[in-house]
Amino acid sequence: MQFLPVFLDLRAGPVLLVGAGELARAKLRLLLAAGARVRFAATDGNDEVSDFDAEAVSRIERVAGDPIAADLTHVIAILCAGAGATGEAMAARARAKGIPVNVMDDLTHSTFIFPAIVDRGDVVVAVGTGGASPVVARRVRERIEALLPARIGDLATFIGRWRKTVHGRIPDFSQRRKFWEHVIDGPIGTMVLAGKSNDADAALHAIGDPSAFTESTGFVTLVGAGPGDPDLLTIKGLRALQDADVIFYDDLVSPEILDRARRDAARVSVGRRVGKPGIGQAAINRLLIEAAQSGKRAVRLKGGDPFVFGRGGEEVAALREAGIAYDIVPGITAGVGAAAESEVPLTFRQKATRITFLTAHKARDAETVDWSALTDTKMTVVVYMGITAAESIRTGLLAAGRSPQTPVGVFARATRPDAKAVVGTLEDLPGLAEQVETGPAILIIGAVVALSAPWRNSELAQLHSTLLMAAE
Ligand code: SAH
Repeated sequence: MQFLPVFLDLRAGPVLLVGAGELARAKLRLLLAAGARVRFAATDGNDEVSDFDAEAVSRIERVAGDPIAADLTHVIAILCAGAGATGEAMAARARAKGIPVNVMDDLTHSTFIFPAIVDRGDVVVAVGTGGASPVVARRVRERIEALLPARIGDLATFIGRWRKTVHGRIPDFSQRRKFWEHVIDGPIGTMVLAGKSNDADAALHAIGDPSAFTESTGFVTLVGAGPGDPDLLTIKGLRALQDADVIFYDDLVSPEILDRARRDAARVSVGRRVGKPGIGQAAINRLLIEAAQSGKRAVRLKGGDPFVFGRGGEEVAALREAGIAYDIVPGITAGVGAAAESEVPLTFRQKATRITFLTAHKARDAETVDWSALTDTKMTVVVYMGITAAESIRTGLLAAGRSPQTPVGVFARATRPDAKAVVGTLEDLPGLAEQVETGPAILIIGAVVALSAPWRNSELAQLHSTLLMAAE
């Protein structure tokens, strides 16, 4: 981090603005909107300010003569926008006096830079890239704009107004935090966001005993984290992560996703790796129940989707039995993530009309699969945990009558930066599985694999057209 984001109170003293044209005007507008008094040195001689209202104009002080010689008494910051060589000279003067200075588009002469700003009243978000790319900063800002409720600023104002009163009634900090979280997440928060601040005031006023709100009952949210790319987390999943007191996560959950959780949430790994013993499902169930019983908001974070080979069903049953409230947030399951990444349309009009998701953890599991149910050539078969059982899967499908030429793909570490996809035909399946090195990996078997990007980019592309013609 090269620049620390801070929020400046510009009413502390005048800001010197040196510059010309639209660039200087834009900064003048921004400064005036932030309540600043502006000493304005127009290097192009155009210091026309008739487009501002009288109150704003009263905060502008025009500088006559050479801007380099402008009076710096009490000046708290200097901005140069469209000032040309004057900017560099001003920066030298500012540094000599120890005044923070920004020369637009000139990192070497600036001691501070402007972020991209989301401005929702009391809620202001600043986005920076250390000056590397304002375009990226703007994109990030657009995303945040889209994510934030329009009246989020009103919500902050509302709480600000009530803070003192509530502080007096709930002296304990963590109780108070819980109280406010209840208010924000409940009907009162909804009223504010719907523009009904008066109703919200009345409702908050009507709460006789605010401490009744803080008797929080615990809660467990099962969240599907998706296959790896943190951007594939749902908005609902992200909210749950940001509300959590404690997160119980699997091995398959990438660190980038955990990074998006509330910073002071406790993180507990309950992962289990193939071949290595984990803490066991019963122990996980117990941890979830205990966390909720002690009033915590627990998140059970699982790779992919909680209900696809994720033992979510067992956890939910245990929670129900213990009388714990829970919620389930779906995630993008690995098979679907891999298919999208490699452009495998899991269904395709007339050519692939059904999908089977199955698990083949070990060769032993693969032997218990009823392969005869998977002979339909219009069925796409998506296999989880199938790498070590690749040989048995081939044997099973061939014995059931599937063609050795059936397209197959092995998609390892799908949607992660080190993703690797290998495609070929069913007869080569074990060899393909070996090529991806480490897991986790998904196998997809069926004609649609011949439509995938890795297939199109391989020498199999020729075979692809033959196969598709055969399927016509
Ligand atoms: N609930 C998870 C599946 C858990 S079982 C889901 O819905 O995706 C674990 C198996 O998922 C792994 O053995 C592998 O087959 C698959 N898997 C999980 N993440 C994966 C990824 N990023 N790429 C490929 N396969 C993955």
